[in-house]
Amino acid sequence: MKDIKSLTLNELKEELALLGEKPFRAGQIYKWLHVRFVSSFDEMSDLSKSLREKLAGEYYITDLKKLEVQISQDDGTRKYLFELSDGNTVESVLMRYHHGNSVCVSSQVGCRMGCTFCASTIGGCIRSLEPSEILDQIYKITSDISERISNVVVMGMGEPMDNFDNVVQFLTMISDENGLNISQRNLTVSTCGLVPEIRRFADLHLSVTLAISLHAGTDEKRQRLMPIARRYSIDELMDACKYFFKETGRRLTFEYALIAGVNDTPQDADEIAGLAKRVSAHVNLIPVNPVTETGYRPTSGKETNAFKKALEDRGVTATVRREMGRDIDGACGQLRKRRLDG
Ligand code: SAH
Repeated sequence: MKDIKSLTLNELKEELALLGEKPFRAGQIYKWLHVRFVSSFDEMSDLSKSLREKLAGEYYITDLKKLEVQISQDDGTRKYLFELSDGNTVESVLMRYHHGNSVCVSSQVGCRMGCTFCASTIGGCIRSLEPSEILDQIYKITSDISERISNVVVMGMGEPMDNFDNVVQFLTMISDENGLNISQRNLTVSTCGLVPEIRRFADLHLSVTLAISLHAGTDEKRQRLMPIARRYSIDELMDACKYFFKETGRRLTFEYALIAGVNDTPQDADEIAGLAKRVSAHVNLIPVNPVTETGYRPTSGKETNAFKKALEDRGVTATVRREMGRDIDGACGQLRKRRLDG
């Protein structure tokens, strides 16, 4: 059986041609899947019964199961735990902002990058998600709240550049005018810094924002926090960032989790400012979410603001990310983890 929800409209047209069907049928089916979010071929009422049966014999429709929703009393943030058809689970988060609804999606079950402060990586990577499984996180949340999603960040569980083709297919389909038609400018992909993949991504010339999880300004310090830093130096990473900016014209973002006593000194700020200026990046600061296993503590609010000011004094724009849903399982991967731990 084949995964029909992972096919672009053009791919669907080709598949239907092989079944001896007219191309316009693809448009009908695509709309049922990607606008009306049906979960069975029987619901596709403008198709003949024989075509519906033929499709059901060849394809399955990815349909994530909502296992759990936690709703923040503070700010309306919702954390979802979804079950995939093989029993694995992934998390997604809905954040409500003045400018619209933003969803953070997972791209893998677990992660193999091994960042020391991250809960998603405990237990390694079980498997990558199919395009349909990334799309369906957004479809299920859209149905749940009956509101449009305007922004998507690929910042949940997993390393998107370690699932390159499926993530690119997802970005193409979520921004397709025949589907949810979310502008590419409102899509962000976050990576821990896989240099060859960043260059490959730049070559696609998508209008997507790229966020780099930096978290340290020297190789030595970064290597202690992130194993990927042993494979690619900060210089190599910055060259890839420059290349991305040159090819796409899109300004990059540096993600920086502030960890008390680890990467939050004035000297750290100085180093980060230098790197941000080198590639004209914007810096997003977030006090680290404590994960029980790590022992890391977040930098205080006062020191976080001082770090931000130190960047601004050097001509770098920075924002402190509002911590959403503090009252529900904080860090990425913790909802799933709590459930696995039982
Ligand atoms: N693998 C990708 C995307 C997923 S993580 C990446 O590394 O970018 C999304 C962001 O959350 C990354 O910037 C990541 O470094 C950060 N993050 C992970 N654990 C965190 C924690 N405990 N506190 C704050 N940020 C964290």
